Amino acid sequence: MATATKPQTRPPDQQEAPEPEDLNPFHIAQSQFDLAARYIPELTPGLGEFLKRPERLLTVEFPIELSDGTVLTFVGYRCLHSTVRGPGKGGIRYHPDVTADEVRALASWMTWKCAVVDIPFGGAKGGVAFDPKKLSVSDVRKVTRRFIAALGENIGPHTDIPAPDVNTDAGTMARIYDTYAMMHPGVNCLPVVTGKPVDLGGSLGRREATARGCLFVTQQALRRGIVPRRSSVQGATVAIQGFGNAGAIAAQLFHEAGARIIAVSDSRGGIHRADGLDPAAVSAHKKRTGSVTGFPDAQDLSGEEVLTVECDILVPAALENVIRRDNVAQVRARLIVEAANGPTTPAADRMLFERGVQVLPDILANAGGVTVSYYEWVQNIENEQWEESAVNEKLLKKMNRAADAVIDTQRTVNADLATLQASRDAKAPGGVPLTPVDLRTAAYILAVRRVANPTLARGIWP
Ligand code: NAD
Repeated sequence: MATATKPQTRPPDQQEAPEPEDLNPFHIAQSQFDLAARYIPELTPGLGEFLKRPERLLTVEFPIELSDGTVLTFVGYRCLHSTVRGPGKGGIRYHPDVTADEVRALASWMTWKCAVVDIPFGGAKGGVAFDPKKLSVSDVRKVTRRFIAALGENIGPHTDIPAPDVNTDAGTMARIYDTYAMMHPGVNCLPVVTGKPVDLGGSLGRREATARGCLFVTQQALRRGIVPRRSSVQGATVAIQGFGNAGAIAAQLFHEAGARIIAVSDSRGGIHRADGLDPAAVSAHKKRTGSVTGFPDAQDLSGEEVLTVECDILVPAALENVIRRDNVAQVRARLIVEAANGPTTPAADRMLFERGVQVLPDILANAGGVTVSYYEWVQNIENEQWEESAVNEKLLKKMNRAADAVIDTQRTVNADLATLQASRDAKAPGGVPLTPVDLRTAAYILAVRRVANPTLARGIWP
């Protein structure tokens, strides 16, 4: 694929090296919060400092005796960002790049996400820094059990409730449930974890919920006119980075809704077909070969090129910081739907906003997963199983309402900039002038208000 080259004004050896972009996810999460806080003049002084920091970060280190007899030590984290609106909620990730700051950032995004969709949870996240693809299935199961045992009473059905994330799935959640249930005999432990297999207390529709939520908010945002001359996904061209739970199911659901999936990728590379790919056939190919690459009748692309394919909708569905200052100029989508958490850096956000490229932010776009996790938790507490159609209908209402709330917040804030500026100047004169906000900042403003208000209603104890 051809990519645009940057115009050069000076010979390369005389150019000043630009400041490297800060890609620390927790720094990014904090800067997103700080930006939104400027538009909330009523925020009680000092409260923002509490709201943006995690309540707790646990680090655990534990050994596993591998199948070949060697002993390996693992480092795992669980961060509880906020319990203001309810117990912490968030996935567990297995990936070699997991760090304390990544987990902190992901936990804070969970807090804002749960507030955007208005469910009674706070934010949490966990991870173990290793590559599960390099271990046997039984060794990965041992990691899960030792990690959960090490977290001990720090997770629980009414304190902190894990779920799937990168490289963990319903099978992993079954082991988490089983380990916790072994430690708590005689009580209903099903609500300690969500994303479980359907025959073990999982909710119908949970596996597809993240992707279905992405589709619902995309449809609603297009109906609301955020992309000129495109009011539906019908006939839209779509490129998707990441072909796991979020990405592969998004490909299938967008395809069923009439979109044309022209490019997809996974960690080994990507594929492109201008006439459209059949997501079910690509999934079958990936199952057989381990990757989407080499799919018949498609052109192989590098993983980076999938982000720069000309399309209506780009869905990053893999990891953080994939759309950055250094590659954003090459992104040719009209709308970015963040199935992944943290795929776009603040510098890239600003440049996309200036170009009129809309971004449906992660804390809205991928909130379908935690929403149906909440439904699973409710079903587990009530010992019920809801019909899949009932789950999907409730999800549709939640996602439409959240998309409307974010778009309405953006429109209200941007229409009231002068009043907000005056109110802010009255409290703290001389700050950076307020400029129109994008959808991410609007989502943050909505979410921060929804966490700040109950914090004050509860009162700062003692
Ligand atoms: P997953 O492990 O099922 O899939 C991840 C996919 O990304 C895999 O196909 C992998 O090959 C691919 N990938 C990894 N590195 C890549 C790279 N450099 N380029 C292209 N592809 C790459 O994970 P998932 O659950 O689908 O999570 C993906 C993203 O969605 C994460 O950011 C996660 O936090 C977010 N998310 C997931 C859920 C959920 O319910 N699973 C909910 C909300 C958000």
